[in-house]
Amino acid sequence: MPRSTRPITSVLAAATALALPPAGAEAAAARPAVGATTTVSAASQPRPKRTTARRTPTRTTATRTATKRTSTTKATAAKTATTKTTTTKTTTTAARPTAARPTRTTARRPSTRPTTRTVNRATAPVRPHGPVVPGKVAYLTFDDGPTAAYTPQVLEILRRHRAEATFFMIGQQATAHPDLVKRVRAEGHAIGNHTWSHPNLATSSAGAVTDELRRANQGIGGRVRCLRPPYGATNGRITSLARGQGLTPVLWNVDSRDWTRPGVATITTNALAAPAGGGAPTILFHDGGGTRTQTVAALPGVLDSLARRGYRFDTLPVCR
Ligand SMILES: [Zn+2]
Repeated sequence: MPRSTRPITSVLAAATALALPPAGAEAAAARPAVGATTTVSAASQPRPKRTTARRTPTRTTATRTATKRTSTTKATAAKTATTKTTTTKTTTTAARPTAARPTRTTARRPSTRPTTRTVNRATAPVRPHGPVVPGKVAYLTFDDGPTAAYTPQVLEILRRHRAEATFFMIGQQATAHPDLVKRVRAEGHAIGNHTWSHPNLATSSAGAVTDELRRANQGIGGRVRCLRPPYGATNGRITSLARGQGLTPVLWNVDSRDWTRPGVATITTNALAAPAGGGAPTILFHDGGGTRTQTVAALPGVLDSLARRGYRFDTLPVCR
């Protein structure tokens, strides 16, 4: 899927100055969790399970989508058991992604999957949304995880809304929760590097930056193509060091400010704000680094509102 990443990159670059969070404030919010993580990691320091982490996901994009599509099929066609009806429904639901995602259409076209393959998937109802407007895409991003407390809740909400997102993982966290890394990938989301231990890269030596990025890549395992520098602190030097590790830095243009825990209503309002500098919204959330119950509570409303405005939710192109 050769999508151009230019517009997003330049929008984000332009938005950098506006979107930079006060590093001190986020530092205060994030540090305790990172410290706690260190304790866990030091105690049990599990080696990243190469074979598990790198195993090619058993579900390809094509089968994943087919599963999703037919999950809907199953839900809508559950009462009618005849093959004929099922086939018809599949065709109907397949039409929507075609319009909204032209570049992926060909790859996602198996169309005549046997319904038996899809039975396990639909454990909870998938929310129906209005028609997706072609080209309207929102990128949800989650930093500082994975965490046992919040990542599974976020994943469940995303699944119910048929949303794909990008998780910027801290290497220490990923190493402590290889099962969650695997699950995030298996459910179709992209994973980015958020360093090994969440330092401010702008004030770290070149050697330290490289070490932070490399260790996080190793800890996460598998395909990692993008970097979100902690606190949004980046510069030309960091960009070039990141590229040396195969990573493209990517920031955000909408900050939910969930890391300040301002309450569900404020997080929702912030997340629905117009992107700084225009373009597709790339929204900053956190599934780690502290208590994220407000984030989890705000997320369904944010997804519903954006979906009503015609957005679909995808992984960041530079992270795929
Ligand atoms: Zn962070």
